[in-house]
Amino acid sequence: MKAIALISGGLDSTLAAKLTKDLGIELVAFNTISPFCLCNQRSSSGCVHGAGKVAKELGIKLISVNVSEEFIEIVRKPKHGYGSNMNPCIDCRILLFKKAKIAMEQEGASFVITGEVLGQRPMSQKLKTMQLIERESELEGFVVRPLSAQVLEPTIPEKNGWIPRDKLLAINGRSRKGQFALAKEFAIFDYPCPSGGCLLTDPEFSRRLKDVMLHDELTLDGVILLKLGRHFRLSKGVKLVVGRNESENGLLESAGREGDWLLYPKDDLAGPTALLRGGSTQDLIDLSGRITAHYCDLNGSVYADIFYRRAGGQESCLKASPVDEGLLKSLRI
Ligand code: SF4
Repeated sequence: MKAIALISGGLDSTLAAKLTKDLGIELVAFNTISPFCLCNQRSSSGCVHGAGKVAKELGIKLISVNVSEEFIEIVRKPKHGYGSNMNPCIDCRILLFKKAKIAMEQEGASFVITGEVLGQRPMSQKLKTMQLIERESELEGFVVRPLSAQVLEPTIPEKNGWIPRDKLLAINGRSRKGQFALAKEFAIFDYPCPSGGCLLTDPEFSRRLKDVMLHDELTLDGVILLKLGRHFRLSKGVKLVVGRNESENGLLESAGREGDWLLYPKDDLAGPTALLRGGSTQDLIDLSGRITAHYCDLNGSVYADIFYRRAGGQESCLKASPVDEGLLKSLRI
């Protein structure tokens, strides 16, 4: 018997897959890639690293499907709404299950297993919601949840004896004690994506996302920028992103696209790189220079020499006095 195992790289899906594999069921690991995965904040390669590690340890093949474009559309307008932040969990799960169904058919597998635990997550792991997700993905009755199976109605694979129901577990609720005990039993101490979460549940990231959506600026490559630095809305269509450390400064330099301005202090001054997008008037460059200067180590001076240039363009310099806290706060997203 062959099944598709949804693997996020987190503990629950790892345990569910291990338990099922130990029952002699052939597994193919499956995950989707989106730019919102917490495991890999600085690129759009999503959870593929975490899931890849788990699949390798279990000795099973991994299928990863990039759903970034479709997912951005879901984030824009989720049919079933958002969770407490910008997380459209129900629509996200429906998309994942739909893709898993395609993989199931292509691989000649008979059902899907997941690490879901009844009642563990407020939005997507309530009974009614789990049923809705199955229905909308046309997988009704074909999703086995090995960690919670015994507190759920028997599925078609259990009824048909494809997987022994009496060997499945009865974990439910928000406590993680059951999973930790099982992890100990399986000697699983290192799972690559312990948070198992995504950036859409992060309040600060969600604030930035809402801002770009409000200004109709959400694009796939723009998501990478949302993960970096401190963000300031200077006016409609104009944003400044200021690096918080050396690594972000480097990433901002490479994130620049045509028309963007890069600002940075003179070599002998410690301070951030900033990226100005959407504005090119001298007033906006001056304001960006003053915000950049706010984060420079001025060594007692009242201004900083801030260079600015367009990608591949000529460098100019301005003397910028740092903006005050009040103005900074009013512009910060
Ligand atoms: S937390 Fe993120 S990845 Fe997980 S179901 Fe919700 S939207 Fe999808």
